[in-house]
Amino acid sequence: MGDLRNGFEVLDDHRSVMPRRSIADRWMLAIAILAVLCVAGCQTSALGRRQYKLMSEAEMSQMGATAFSEISKQTPASRDARENAMVACVANAITQSLVGSNSNTRWEVRVFADKTPNAFALPGGKIGVNTGLLQVARTQGQLAAVIAHEVVHVMEGHANERVTAELAKNSAMQVAYVLADASNPMYGQMVGLLGAGVQVGVMLPFGRKQEREADLLGLDLMATAGFDPRESIALWHNMSKAGGGQPPEFLSTHPSHGTRIRDLEQRLPQVMPLYEEAKARGRAPRCY
Ligand SMILES: [Zn+2]
Repeated sequence: MGDLRNGFEVLDDHRSVMPRRSIADRWMLAIAILAVLCVAGCQTSALGRRQYKLMSEAEMSQMGATAFSEISKQTPASRDARENAMVACVANAITQSLVGSNSNTRWEVRVFADKTPNAFALPGGKIGVNTGLLQVARTQGQLAAVIAHEVVHVMEGHANERVTAELAKNSAMQVAYVLADASNPMYGQMVGLLGAGVQVGVMLPFGRKQEREADLLGLDLMATAGFDPRESIALWHNMSKAGGGQPPEFLSTHPSHGTRIRDLEQRLPQVMPLYEEAKARGRAPRCY
């Protein structure tokens, strides 16, 4: 106890010399607490952006699986063999070129009979593509650009960031309660956080930085898988023409098409060598 009191006395002494010290101490304490929390929650994205992710991979996978089965109940699967083969071929080429911990995921791919030009990927390895997207993404490369973009959202844990931000706003108990009950109206919102918002009629787009990350890293991913990254530019031109009605996830986000296309064009010189390298290694998907 004596030491403790001495501690306070020392602190008081400092305060008399430097009156702002107590405020600084409080800040230090706050930063220390944050640092402790960040052992679990802070990570850095592949593009160097600081991320706060407090949900576990298992929790996110569980949410992804629940959302996927909800969507599958609401929207029939396409029975068109050609569409299914095309989407499976492109999605497999993309997911097989993932490296590191992401390569362990077993991906499930489904084509939904839905005219909205949209696609999504969910934590735990679920990919959904609407038949309507195939009218906009007209080549294998364009479809690859969309799927790669969606897969990056999963790889980079963007849904986890959004759920974490939601946890910060609501109490953890409330979120857990909502997650346990799919009929709760808030459940749709939580599913929306995963990036499948359109499917459940709730629009909660990813943030601008997350979209940019998905665009740029998606470009790397499609090139590594052997798809011509220049096709992404054509895709965005098609997307911009296809606007109207309920916007797909891609169209709902903040950056304008012009900005997206400029960003992609800027990155192309870096990415073309990845494409050449993939071709040289015999990675040339033929998904027609
Ligand atoms: Zn996106």
